[in-house]
Amino acid sequence: MLEFLSSPSAFLRAMDVGIPDGVAEPFEAYWQREGLATSAALDRAGTPWVRQFDRFGGRIDELLFPPAYWTMLHTSYRAGAVWRALEESMPAAYAIGYLTCYYDVGLYCPHTVSLGTAAAVAKYAAPEVRERFLPALLRRNDAVWQGATWMTEARGGSDLGATVETLAQQTPDGWRLTGDKYFCSNVGAELAVVAARPEGAPPGVRGLALFLTPRLRSDGTLNYHVRRLKDKIATRSVPTGEVELDRSEAYFLGEPGHGIYHILEVLNLSRVSNSVGAVALMQRALADACSFATGREIFGTKLIDQPLMRHQITQKIADLRAAFALAWEPVRIAEEVWREPAPRYSERFQCFRVLVHLAKYWTAELAVQAAKWAMEVNGGMGTLAEFGVERHLREAMILNIWEGPPHRQIIDGFEALERKGGYRLLLDHLTPYADAALLEAHRRRLEAHFALPADQQAAQMEDIFSALAQFTAAALASKYPALSMA
Ligand SMILES: Cc1cc2nc3c(=O)[nH]c(=O)nc-3n(C[C@H](O)[C@H](O)[C@H](O)COP(=O)(O)OP(=O)(O)OC[C@H]3O[C@@H](n4cnc5c(N)ncnc54)[C@H](O)[C@@H]3O)c2cc1C
Repeated sequence: MLEFLSSPSAFLRAMDVGIPDGVAEPFEAYWQREGLATSAALDRAGTPWVRQFDRFGGRIDELLFPPAYWTMLHTSYRAGAVWRALEESMPAAYAIGYLTCYYDVGLYCPHTVSLGTAAAVAKYAAPEVRERFLPALLRRNDAVWQGATWMTEARGGSDLGATVETLAQQTPDGWRLTGDKYFCSNVGAELAVVAARPEGAPPGVRGLALFLTPRLRSDGTLNYHVRRLKDKIATRSVPTGEVELDRSEAYFLGEPGHGIYHILEVLNLSRVSNSVGAVALMQRALADACSFATGREIFGTKLIDQPLMRHQITQKIADLRAAFALAWEPVRIAEEVWREPAPRYSERFQCFRVLVHLAKYWTAELAVQAAKWAMEVNGGMGTLAEFGVERHLREAMILNIWEGPPHRQIIDGFEALERKGGYRLLLDHLTPYADAALLEAHRRRLEAHFALPADQQAAQMEDIFSALAQFTAAALASKYPALSMA
């Protein structure tokens, strides 16, 4: 096995990425000893169970997992997947995310949405709300509170301006939310940030606002109800449910009229996580494929030594390095820009937005390709659950869809490229790492595209966006050490 594929920390170190001191060794030892088996058992078990009522018929909506689940979940909280983002640095927290995703991509969802919740509370909650809730989200022990980010309703997640019907009403006792959320990951979390429409607000995205909603009301009773859990193809280490809000207590976050910016900021951090997770999944798929190819002999030669296989592995290693470079750039820039208040963002922030969309789109695509290829390398055994690689493809497909499917990344990415000259900011950012003639060719292609009628622009977006993502990844890859099969 190639050394840099041997563990997630080995790969991060090969990429010169710092991992907080003392974290990697015990973290990886836990996963080898116990975590991998727990994760596989949860995946095979399918959906967890929600116990809606206690013995006396009182509503409790308790999520039931085996105790080993909570150990697995808390390992990353303790290591700093959330607290390090606010108290140390974004790259330190995302490095923990990378380690987590290598072993279980779905498990990183609770940490990701908790990070989005903590960032929104830190930036936009009123001081007394922040002081009451933020410390619980940043605890470094198993008493840590979890967050969640609930925007999507049954009529769809792409067009939030049209589909969010949850109503926010201001009462003498504070804000109250009423409505149903259809996709609620990390359901059961102690806190959730929720998109809603204040009574009397204008239609469309401008009328949206972001609220913080605790699991329990001030009197200790349930503040939201879990209607049911989703039976998903993957990411089974995070419970995703439907939630009913019924005059639920809530706290307004940020400025009136700025809700859509706050929602997008939360989504942007999740998309950064998604890209980091997609790369970790690529590494795992590649490692599993190489491990199988090393042990398999075909026509008297080990599979890994067959020229076609060597060529494919060399290509996958290059993809992994480029995908990492594309995913890690927004991680680095997030550290500089995440505290900027909406809506007067700097040019650096606009460049970050462009990179977030390019990275979410292209790393998820590469993760699907890598997972499919790893199954193929395992041949027929790749289709058998006990070989483990079919799971990578199921997980990769969710990475591709949640946090906005490819169409949304392309369309929203183009908006970020065109508005406020985002494409110029991106190309300037790439200038130290890319060939000048290629940069100029991309600039011309984009400007010609912006001049097309809207329908034509939309129809032709994908080729241009895909080419730009690959160009950006290749340019940024030159910042990182070379990797080879030798
Ligand atoms: C496992 C899982 C967990 C999730 N957890 C959460 C969560 O915790 N919180 C939350 O808020 N959401 C969550 N989601 C929802 C997720 O964010 C949405 O599924 C996603 O944003 C897409 O919305 P949709 O499924 O309603 O698709 P729709 O909005 O109905 O879109 C359908 C398809 O049309 C495409 N499309 C949209 N616009 C265009 C266009 N102009 N041109 C061409 N195609 C277009 C979309 O990309 C998509 O492929 C979760 C989803 C999954 C699968």
